[in-house]
Amino acid sequence: MDLTISPEDEAFRQEVRTFIRDNLPKHLPREVLRLGYLAHGAKRVLEWGKILYKKGWAAPPWPVEYGGTGWTDMQRHIFEEECWKADAPMIAMGALSLVGPVIYTFGTPELKAKFLPLILRGEIFWAQGFSEPNAGSDLASLKTTAVLDGDHYVVNGSKIWTSGAHFADWGFFLVRTDSTVKAQKGISFLLIDMKTPGITLRPIVSIDGMYHLNQTFLDNVRVPRENLVGEPGQGWSFGKFLLENERTGSAFINYTKREWAKARDIARAEMKNGKPLIEDPEFSRRLAKVQIEIQALEYSVLRVLSKEKSRYDSIAVAAVLKLHGSDLHQKVTELQYDALGDKALHHFTEAQLEDPDSDPPGMPDYVAGRTAEYLISRAATIYGGSQQVQRGIIAKLAFGL
Ligand SMILES: Cc1cc2nc3c(=O)[nH]c(=O)nc-3n(C[C@H](O)[C@H](O)[C@H](O)COP(=O)(O)OP(=O)(O)OC[C@H]3O[C@@H](n4cnc5c(N)ncnc54)[C@H](O)[C@@H]3O)c2cc1C
Repeated sequence: MDLTISPEDEAFRQEVRTFIRDNLPKHLPREVLRLGYLAHGAKRVLEWGKILYKKGWAAPPWPVEYGGTGWTDMQRHIFEEECWKADAPMIAMGALSLVGPVIYTFGTPELKAKFLPLILRGEIFWAQGFSEPNAGSDLASLKTTAVLDGDHYVVNGSKIWTSGAHFADWGFFLVRTDSTVKAQKGISFLLIDMKTPGITLRPIVSIDGMYHLNQTFLDNVRVPRENLVGEPGQGWSFGKFLLENERTGSAFINYTKREWAKARDIARAEMKNGKPLIEDPEFSRRLAKVQIEIQALEYSVLRVLSKEKSRYDSIAVAAVLKLHGSDLHQKVTELQYDALGDKALHHFTEAQLEDPDSDPPGMPDYVAGRTAEYLISRAATIYGGSQQVQRGIIAKLAFGL
C-alpha cells in the first residue's frame, strides 16, 4: 500500500481549496457549525450541491457516465477533507451515496433519466424509509406492505426515525411485496413522492431539542408501479450493495478530524485555573489520545480506499469502520463539551441556532451548537446499525463465529 500524496494530488488539493474559498457562500460555514452534523438540512445541503453541480463536482462517487468526476479514491478523499475543513455543508448523502447508486445500477432507463439529473442539480432531497417501530436492527421483519392494484402499488404501514422527511421531496422505501416467501425475499425498493396523498408525518423531537426525525405514516398511498427499482423482492440485496458501495463513508473520518480541531481550539481559548485549558496535562492527554485514534482510523480508511486486498469480508470491514468511526464521533463531541465547562449548559433553541445574531452578549462564537451536537451524536452508535449489531457482523463475517 502506497499512501504517499503525489505532487498531482497536492496540486488537486490546492485546486479544491481555491474553488471552495472562492465559491462557498460566506454564510454557510457558520450556520453549518451552529446547526451541526444532522441538522443543517435540505436548504443548505442543496444550496452547496447546486454550486458544486455548476463546477461538475456534484457527484464525485458516481461513474463518469452518470455525472461523476472520474477522480481517484485519493482525490475523493482530499475533496471531502477540504470541504469538511472549510465547514461546507455535507453532501446530500441519501441521494448521492444511497439512492443514486441504486437507481443508476438497477433502475430502468426511465428512472435514471428522471431522477439522476434532479439529484445532480441539487433539486431534490431524499428521505430514507427503512426502519419501522418493530423493525430496526431486525429490518427483515418490516411490515409496511405494497400491494399491486392495476398499475399502482398501494402502500400501507408506518416508518420511524425518518430523518429529514419534513423537507424531503422523495423517499426511498423498503416495503413488503410478498408475505409468502422468506422475509428477506419479499422486500422491495420503492421510490415515493413525499407529497402523495396518504402520507402524514409525526415529528419526533430528539435529545438535542431539535426536530430532525419523524414517524411517517402511509395510508393507502398509491405509487406508480414504475417507481419500483429492480425486480420485486430485490430490495434486501440493495442494502448489501449500498454497504459495499460506500464502505468508508460510515467512518465519519473527515467530520471527526474537523471536530477534533475545534475541540483543540476551544481548549486553547478556555481557561482553567488561570491557564489555557490546553495546558492542563489531563485534558491535553485526552486530546492527544483521541487524535491518535483518529489517525489510526484514517489509515484504515486509506487502506480500504487504496483497494489493498483485505482477507476479510468487505461488509465486515465496513462494520469495523462504522464501529470505530461512530465511537470517535462521540468522543470528539465529548471533548468539546467538556472543554466548554459551564458554558456548555447554556440552552440554545433551534430558532436561536438558526440565527447567528441571537447569541447573548459576550458568548464566544464557538459555543452555540456544541451541546446539541454532543447530545445528538449519542445517536451515531445507533443509526446505520448499532454497535452491537456491527460487532455481530464482524464476529460472523470476519471470524465465522
Ligand atoms: C438519529 C437517528 C436517525 C435515523 N435515521 C433513519 C432514517 O433516516 N431512516 C431509517 O430508516 N432509519 C433511521 N434510523 C433508525 C436506525 O437505523 C435504527 O434506530 C437502528 O437500526 C436500530 O434499530 P432500533 O432503533 O429499532 O433498535 P433495536 O433494533 O430495537 O435495538 C435495541 C437494542 O438492542 C440491540 N440489538 C438489537 N439486535 C441485536 C443483535 N442482533 N445483537 C445484539 N444486540 C442487538 C441494539 O444494539 C440496541 O442496543 C435513525 C435512527 C436514529 C437514532
